[in-house]
Amino acid sequence: MQTEHFDIVINGGGMVGAALACGLTQHNFRVAVIERCEPAHYDTTSLPDIRISAISRTSAALLDEIGAWSQVLARRCAPYRRLETWEWESAKTEFSAALLKLPELGFMVENQVLQRVLWERMEELGITLFSPAALDTMTYQPEQEQWSITLDQGTAMTCSLLVGADGAHSQVRQGAGIGIQGWDYQQACMLISVECAYEPGETTWQQFTPHGPRAFLPLYDRFASLVWYDSAARIDALKKLSPAQLDLEIAQHFPACVGQVKTLRSGAFPLTRRHANTYIKPGIALVGDAAHTINPLAGQGVNLGYRDIDALIDVLICARRKAQPWWRLDTLKHYQRKRYADNLVMQTGMDLFYFTFSNQHPPLKVLRNVGLMAAQRGGWLKRKALSYALGL
Ligand SMILES: Cc1cc2nc3c(=O)[nH]c(=O)nc-3n(C[C@H](O)[C@H](O)[C@H](O)COP(=O)(O)OP(=O)(O)OC[C@H]3O[C@@H](n4cnc5c(N)ncnc54)[C@H](O)[C@@H]3O)c2cc1C
Repeated sequence: MQTEHFDIVINGGGMVGAALACGLTQHNFRVAVIERCEPAHYDTTSLPDIRISAISRTSAALLDEIGAWSQVLARRCAPYRRLETWEWESAKTEFSAALLKLPELGFMVENQVLQRVLWERMEELGITLFSPAALDTMTYQPEQEQWSITLDQGTAMTCSLLVGADGAHSQVRQGAGIGIQGWDYQQACMLISVECAYEPGETTWQQFTPHGPRAFLPLYDRFASLVWYDSAARIDALKKLSPAQLDLEIAQHFPACVGQVKTLRSGAFPLTRRHANTYIKPGIALVGDAAHTINPLAGQGVNLGYRDIDALIDVLICARRKAQPWWRLDTLKHYQRKRYADNLVMQTGMDLFYFTFSNQHPPLKVLRNVGLMAAQRGGWLKRKALSYALGL
């Protein structure tokens, strides 16, 4: 039996891998995607997904280019126009879309809605999908400059470029022998889908408390998502509570502006920072969480993944236009150069923010609140910080 050859095989059809597959196919690369688990079909009556992503305007523009965004808007998604953060009520910093003369800062989108839309777009584009399937073996053939791959259900194929879009525990990254640096944060995080007594509005906020941040993400209708950061032990204890008991805990430990909420469902996630030592090897590229995970404090994870794929698509089509071998390390180095430092700066910035606000040393507490007050009054600084976070 002849083994099929693809230009590019993407392991992982999550929010990042699926979007990359669509973008590459639109530029006439022959792409296949391997995904362990097909996303569930869209159901208008389902409760909101526990996992929500704050999609920046820049990411929305990329999703629009690949023909997916109109379907996200047509399903469930909520624009947010204000962002507030504070520790002391008197030192609140507010960012608004109006500050940058934008219609909105971004959109709250359920991960399962976005992944499903992307999956349907991959089907529309005729992308070869292997699912449910998982990568079994990957072997580099240097003379042919290609990877030979087998899947757990027996399929074999070859490709010029193998992309790891398979998340934080990337099998491609490990198979290529790429190491990581990183650590687990002291805290864990609980995501809670709630129904509010009133429409949740268009403001997302985050309050820093001595135990960790508490955040509010407004969704559609009366739904919202709460994010509770705390010690792993405390999050473990919260996991054991019934929804009614969790409602009582929320009333006690969230700021009053959360209002009256009813817990629908919840899930807990560990917080880890990981950064691959390199994103590239001969015939290999890593994107999204396979390359880096970041503290979700500022909702940047998937947006960084979208910046990765924007850069990778650009580098590959540029090389192909110049008739250069786009799969070679020399070409892929341009991708690494565009993305590695940027991701590192964002990871480090988030960590600085996280550690500054985790420390309860009184002088530092005063200093950071004074910092927030200054940020609130500093128009130029505020615009710059907001533009950077939005990827503008
Ligand atoms: C608590 C929390 C809150 C977050 N909030 C935000 C936010 O508000 N905004 C934001 O931008 N980001 C947020 N993030 C980060 C964001 O969720 C991730 O950055 C994003 O999911 C990464 O997408 P990905 O496609 O790279 O990886 P993943 O979402 O992990 O997808 C990887 C895919 O690969 C598949 N796969 C894995 N291994 C294999 C294999 N061996 N074979 C086949 N398939 C495989 C998986 O099934 C999955 O579909 C948050 C993260 C956490 C933990």
